[in-house]
Amino acid sequence: MNFYVMTLFPDMVEQGLNTSIIGRATEKGLLSIKAVDIRAFSEDKHKRVDDYPYGGGAGMVMAPDPVVKTCAYVKSLIPEERREKTKVVYLTPQGETFTQKKAEEWAKEEDLIFLCGHYEGIDERTLEMVVTDMVSAGDYVLTGGELPAMMMIDAVSRLVPGVLNNEASAEFESFQDNLLEYPQYTRPEEYEGRKVPEVLLSGHHANIEKWRREKSIERTLAARPDLLKDAVLSKKEKKYLDGLLEEKKRQEEASEASENTDRY
Ligand code: SAM
Repeated sequence: MNFYVMTLFPDMVEQGLNTSIIGRATEKGLLSIKAVDIRAFSEDKHKRVDDYPYGGGAGMVMAPDPVVKTCAYVKSLIPEERREKTKVVYLTPQGETFTQKKAEEWAKEEDLIFLCGHYEGIDERTLEMVVTDMVSAGDYVLTGGELPAMMMIDAVSRLVPGVLNNEASAEFESFQDNLLEYPQYTRPEEYEGRKVPEVLLSGHHANIEKWRREKSIERTLAARPDLLKDAVLSKKEKKYLDGLLEEKKRQEEASEASENTDRY
């Protein structure tokens, strides 16, 4: 899979992604990550890429021409038959929030282009001209789109076949089936008085699987109950969740009742 990142800080992107699993996958030719410097396409004699915002206000805005030219250059690197359908993703806090589902969808693409903004963002006409998707890293504002681009490339890359040595390690992870992952343990069996749950030492695969699914459901209910409405659960697992919900309700009612008693 080929990633192209249009940025004012190409070193940050390339250096940030050339280590560990992603670095090895790049060496093996499973991925290619090319960061293209927007500044190189500025025709200003001082290589400026930003200007004051029309209408006034704080900060600077990235001008259209260098970005449009960078995009044309990046597209020229993509074979003609794939060029039209290649997504150009603008990283912006105003976009749709990036999720594992989006990573799975993008992992099916052959090429992806990311556009990183800086300063106060990018001239709106540029976005209208070159961007196909707007995606956010979350509800907070960063100084640039580089970290979100790197984060998204990492999440997509590990879903590309062959990138993870052990294919199974991408098999069940948080957000698959809309559940969070179960707790993981490694050696020693006991650490500072804390033991690994007995079932994991039993070698009984069906029991281990059942325990893991139940822990996933418990964790999701505790940390991300919003995910549960779309969780993929068997009949037995739904029953297990109903039991947890009833127990939670009982506990809430009991603590409300004890609060009321304390008040009187
Ligand atoms: N003025 C913009 C606004 O209020 O929407 C924010 C600009 S931000 C300081 C500069 C650049 O950082 C943006 O153009 C975008 O590329 C990137 N950025 C900041 N926060 C981001 C987020 N949560 N997700 C993705 N990109 C983000």
